[in-house]
Amino acid sequence: MSEEYDEKLTDEVIKLGLDLGIDKIGIADAERAEEPPHGHGDPQNIVRGAKVAISLVMAYPDGTIDCDHTDDLIHGGVYVHTQNALYQELSRIALHIAKFLEKKGYNATPIAPELPRDEKRFVGAISHRFIAQLAGLGEIGHSNLFLTKEWGPRVALATVVTNAPLKTGEPDLIDRVCLKCYECVERCPSGAISRDNYPPYNFNLNKCFWGIQGWVRLTKVEAPPKDWVEARPTALIMVPKYEQKYPQIKEYQEWIERMGDFPYCSICMQVCKVGKKAKIKKEDNR
Ligand code: SF4
Ligand code: SF4
Repeated sequence: MSEEYDEKLTDEVIKLGLDLGIDKIGIADAERAEEPPHGHGDPQNIVRGAKVAISLVMAYPDGTIDCDHTDDLIHGGVYVHTQNALYQELSRIALHIAKFLEKKGYNATPIAPELPRDEKRFVGAISHRFIAQLAGLGEIGHSNLFLTKEWGPRVALATVVTNAPLKTGEPDLIDRVCLKCYECVERCPSGAISRDNYPPYNFNLNKCFWGIQGWVRLTKVEAPPKDWVEARPTALIMVPKYEQKYPQIKEYQEWIERMGDFPYCSICMQVCKVGKKAKIKKEDNR
């Protein structure tokens, strides 16, 4: 943690985030975020002299995650629209916090939940889940999703990077949130997650693309083909070839054009026992 911090300003930022509707907020030491996994960017590339990265968490309503995702109209009408609304809300609140810090005389910028990516390497300007873990808000689980104690992976994340001297949290939930139940491994249709190794080394991005981009559902082929799995830098270079082979993929592309980028598969989020446990607890409290 940074030696010198402004406790009053830290409390003000946390209160502002919560007042604006954030479900959970934490602060990560930007120096610790210098070497994020998978080649994502360093907060210092965004705000020179960045001291901290503020992590913002908003939970999905359970009904959105537990709806019938095999029905395209429900998936698109409920899940995709709720995700878009959460992203907009997070972006709005991150902007408010950045402007608040600017008024206090610091540099700050919001980093939206849905980052533009280098599509070949599939990396963005920052890893929200890595920042959230450093801030002590939860743990990157075996599924490679970010898990909170309260909602499991049923959350969306955004970040504010700033040179304000805020008090940082500690990543003290590592190995304490994920139950290692391997439900995510068993239920992933494309075999993208392995039991072996720790995240991120147990995750095959190309195999996940086959599921998350809708190819499993639209082609009815669960196991991604060998050339797809082995494509480098990522399987995205194979999309034109497979679009020709499976013309029904055009349906997905048309949806994307209409609704923006969205995941076609969220099974690892739906089945995670941490998220389900939190949901059951909520129901027991009624
Ligand atoms: S999004 Fe779907 S395909 Fe990707 S890891 Fe999760 S369950 Fe597997
Ligand atoms: S499904 Fe089980 S193993 Fe996978 S992330 Fe959730 S708790 Fe961890």
